[in-house]
Amino acid sequence: MTKAPIPANEAERLASIKKMQILYTPAEEVFDRIARLTQKIFNVPVVFISIVADDYEWFKSQVGLDINSGPRDVSICGHIVFTGEMMVVEDAQTDERFFDNAYVCEQMNIRFYAGRPLRNTEDHIVGTLCIVDHEPRTFTEDDRQTLDAIGYWIESVFATRGLSTAMRNLLLELDEVRRNSMMDSLLNIWNRGAIEDILKREADLGLRQKTQISILMIDIDFFKKINDVHGHPVGDAALLSVVKALRNQLRSYDSVGRYGGEEFLAILPNTSQKDAVKLAERLRIAVSKASIKSGDEDVQCTISLGLASADFSTETVDINQLVVNADNALLQAKEAGRNRVEIAA
Ligand code: GH3
Ligand code: MG
Ligand code: MG
Repeated sequence: MTKAPIPANEAERLASIKKMQILYTPAEEVFDRIARLTQKIFNVPVVFISIVADDYEWFKSQVGLDINSGPRDVSICGHIVFTGEMMVVEDAQTDERFFDNAYVCEQMNIRFYAGRPLRNTEDHIVGTLCIVDHEPRTFTEDDRQTLDAIGYWIESVFATRGLSTAMRNLLLELDEVRRNSMMDSLLNIWNRGAIEDILKREADLGLRQKTQISILMIDIDFFKKINDVHGHPVGDAALLSVVKALRNQLRSYDSVGRYGGEEFLAILPNTSQKDAVKLAERLRIAVSKASIKSGDEDVQCTISLGLASADFSTETVDINQLVVNADNALLQAKEAGRNRVEIAA
C-alpha cells in the first residue's frame, strides 16, 4: 500500500487543529446531522467526518462505523490531507494504492470511497468528509458537486461552532489525552467528573454576568426492566438512543454528561426556569417517541426529569445545593408516576 506523504506545513497544520478544540470532544449534533443527511443523499452504508492528527485519524462523527479512530499510516484520508483534493476510488480492490490497505481489506470493508478535504478558517486541511460503500460505484460530476457542497457546509460549521464559554475554557485547559479520559466511551458525552467541572465553570460565569442558570437531572424510567427483558446489549442501544434524542433537542451551548449508569445531568446556561420547563418537556417527548429494535420488537423508554433553576442577579447560588434540588425534583417525578418533569421547590 502507498502511505500518504506528510504535508510540508504539517507542524502549522497540527497547531491549527489544536486551536479548533475539536479532537476528542463529545459528539456534536450538528456534525451528526450532516453525516446522517450525507448518508441519505448518497445512499451509502458509511459516512464519517475525520480529523487527521499526527499519527492517527479521529472521527468527529460517524454513521455505520463502530470505531472512532484509526492509525494515520493506513488512512486513505491522509492522501487527501496531502493533496488537498477530493479523491474518489470507485473500486479499491483494483486500485494499486489501496488494494492491500488494512482498512480496505478488513476493518471497513471499503470498495468505494470518496473523500473531500475539510479546511478550517486558517485554510489548513484538518480532515475529510468521506463516504464509503462495500460495493464498487461510479461517481458522477453531479455527485462530486454534491459532496463538495456538503463539505463546504461542514467548513462553515467549523467557523461558527457555538460551544459555551465554559466548555471552550475547559477544552483549552485539557490536553487531548485528558480530554479523552473525561468522556464516556459508550455514549460519547462528558462523564460525571467533566460535567461537574463544567457546572462549576458555568456557575462562575453566571455569577460574573448575573445571568440565570437551569439544570436538569434526568433518569431513564424502569431501565432495569429493559435490561432484564431484552438483555444488556439492547439496554446499551437504548442508552444511546436516549442520548441521541437528548442531544437532538439541546442547544449547542448546553452541556450534557452521564451522571450515573442511566442518569444524566444537563446544564442550560443563561436559561430561565420558564424556558427550561419548555426544553425539558421537549426532551421528555423526544425520548418517549424514540424506539430501538430488539429482534422484531420496538423497545421504547421514557425519562423523568428534575429541574432546578437559579438567578445570579437576585440570589446567592450554592451550586451543590442546586444539584441536590434537581435530584429531589427527579425523585418527586419518579414518585408521581415517571415520564414527567418536576420543578424543584
Ligand atoms: P427507575 O424508574 O426508578 O429509575 O427504575 P430503573 O429500573 O431505571 O432504576 P434502577 O436504578 O433500579 O436501574 C438502573 C439500571 O441501569 C441498573 C443497571 O444495570 C442499568 N445500567 C446502568 N448502566 C448501564 C449500561 O451502561 N448499560 C446497560 N445496559 N445497563 C446499565
Ligand atoms: Mg432509572
Ligand atoms: Mg438511576
